[in-house]
Amino acid sequence: MSEVTYTVDGPIARIALNRPEYRNAQNVKMTLALDAAYMRAMADDEVKVVVLSGNGKHFSAGHDIGTPGRDIHEEFERTATTWYPHADKPGAEAMYVREQEAYLGMCRRWRDLPKPTIAMVHGACIAGALMLAWSCDLIVASDDAFFADPVVRMGIPGVEFFAHPYVMNPRKAKEFLFLGDRMTAQEALAVGMLNRVVPRTELETQTMEMARRIAEKPRFGLALTKKAINQAEDRMGMRDTMDAVYGLHHLAHAHNALTKDDHIGGQDAKSMKKAMQKPPPKDSK
Ligand code: ZN
Repeated sequence: MSEVTYTVDGPIARIALNRPEYRNAQNVKMTLALDAAYMRAMADDEVKVVVLSGNGKHFSAGHDIGTPGRDIHEEFERTATTWYPHADKPGAEAMYVREQEAYLGMCRRWRDLPKPTIAMVHGACIAGALMLAWSCDLIVASDDAFFADPVVRMGIPGVEFFAHPYVMNPRKAKEFLFLGDRMTAQEALAVGMLNRVVPRTELETQTMEMARRIAEKPRFGLALTKKAINQAEDRMGMRDTMDAVYGLHHLAHAHNALTKDDHIGGQDAKSMKKAMQKPPPKDSK
């Protein structure tokens, strides 16, 4: 079974994360499959728009930190960066090189895809999954979707593709990270992270309708428009911010490795899930 599925519906390529038994936890096999799917959509002249979704109950629970398919120590081919192999490297070097390619580099590569991309999000969109959604141009979520970056609990200042202060304002980004609570789809819409929130039953039809309307526009015009907005974001400092924060992120990984059992502070999927309960209702004391 492939880690992602790929289908074409008229001018729209549909890519779906496909490890539903593990809430679409992202291992490197999935990253490579996702990259191959994006590149296939990019090269196909019939495809004008890409829609990314998750098969099963959730969009994605984030990076794989504990399934049997976890493959963080395995070597893999690099396409997003020019870094050398990581797996045999000591100390902080291995993770620094690995994540440069597998997370930051890949997400930047997908963000730069010269065709509009839409993340269609339902259920959980946690930590590493945010990077998959945020690297898309538009995000449509169902009303049952929820978002969180709980990695501060691991002592880490947010996920590697550090778009937090750009997809919401800086003060909200601090709250989102400090608390690590779930943000509902409606809250995420209100802070500007999402384009639309729709009923779960209409998620697919409304997203595809949006994709079809975009697909009516000229290919090159769409590519230039996308580039214009991405360039504006980078002039607002997003790219430089991510480079700077990547250093802090790996200071945190190294600190964890020096003081705890591993680079993620001894946490695993179970402990993270347990810690990240729904916030209490707003009116409760
Ligand atoms: Zn990391």
